[in-house]
Amino acid sequence: MSRLRETRAFAVKLKDKQQLQSSSSGGAFTAISDVFLTNGDAVISPIYNYETCQTEFEIYRSPKKRDEARGSKYMQSYPLNTFREAEKWLRKNDGDLLFVGVGCQADGFRRYMEVRGLRDRATIVGIICHGSSSPMIWKDYAKKMGSIANLNFRDKRNDWHRPVAHVEINGREKSIQDYLTIFYNKCALRPSCYQCPYATTEREVDLTIGDFWGVEKALPDFDISGGVSLVLVHTEKGLEVFEKVKNDVEWRESHVIDCLQPNLVKPTERSPHRDEFWKDYKTKGINFVLKKYAPKPSLIRRIARKMKKTVKALLKK
Ligand SMILES: Cc1cc2nc3c(=O)[nH]c(=O)nc-3n(C[C@H](O)[C@H](O)[C@H](O)COP(=O)(O)OP(=O)(O)OC[C@H]3O[C@@H](n4cnc5c(N)ncnc54)[C@H](O)[C@@H]3O)c2cc1C
Repeated sequence: MSRLRETRAFAVKLKDKQQLQSSSSGGAFTAISDVFLTNGDAVISPIYNYETCQTEFEIYRSPKKRDEARGSKYMQSYPLNTFREAEKWLRKNDGDLLFVGVGCQADGFRRYMEVRGLRDRATIVGIICHGSSSPMIWKDYAKKMGSIANLNFRDKRNDWHRPVAHVEINGREKSIQDYLTIFYNKCALRPSCYQCPYATTEREVDLTIGDFWGVEKALPDFDISGGVSLVLVHTEKGLEVFEKVKNDVEWRESHVIDCLQPNLVKPTERSPHRDEFWKDYKTKGINFVLKKYAPKPSLIRRIARKMKKTVKALLKK
């Protein structure tokens, strides 16, 4: 696969406001997958399965399925049999295939395609990743909550910078912020995430996507409302695909040095409380670790937060 001399960095935002709102960042995934779906090609990416309470890779050709795939699910996803299915699909059909997954999954897929002599027919997109948390913890948490519908870890109703995490249970919205606190406190991530070799801008896939944190500084006149994706282009093939998405998005070129964020520089550090967390979880269960590692803020703190929000809203008016 021919690599560009230097990785190129772009800020990207879907023009379609509704699709932008339901995407986690600026909707790069939708823009890129549209190129393949409108051509009758196949896409492979993870979708949350409400029956198994797992995030599972699927191979699909319908925009409806793609819409279901939208939204970051903060847990490790299962490839199941999709690498083999991809190979079968490519051998049976003339078309191309798009693969989207976090850095390690994308590179695993790249190696598989290379070994099978099919690399030229696959476009591979890696996602920037803070780390994947144990799917067991999420399953335990989800089962404790009841019958979940409409899982959303990144609802941007307030702002892209202040997303809300919630699920729907019996038609009512319920916060899952405590689960998210555990995800971000670095205790529940897979051990390999602390040594992630993909925490870099130099990857061997075609494209890398993530949030363009710091875009306000890198491109001060770019409208960031609704969220902005960072798209890193590594190969000629990636650039060809990027050329095709340009009509559907607002975009600007930036520089790799201006879009760095922690997980493009080094892996997430292992929490010093990780062993204690797992010992607590194994001996005392999910409710105990939620209370200990994601405690609810005190009443005074909650009141202070609410007052701060009200004052901010008044000042904005
Ligand atoms: C576990 C995890 C950690 C992340 N950490 C960071 C980070 O530190 N910095 C950063 O800039 N961005 C991070 N992201 C990426 C970011 O949250 C967005 O997913 C990304 O910017 C794409 O946004 P979008 O608007 O194009 O996609 P959307 O339209 O919202 O689509 C999301 C895409 O992610 C895929 N996906 C969802 N859940 C998973 C999963 N568990 N495993 C693999 N793929 C999944 C979906 O299939 C879809 O392709 C992370 C994503 C995940 C899943």
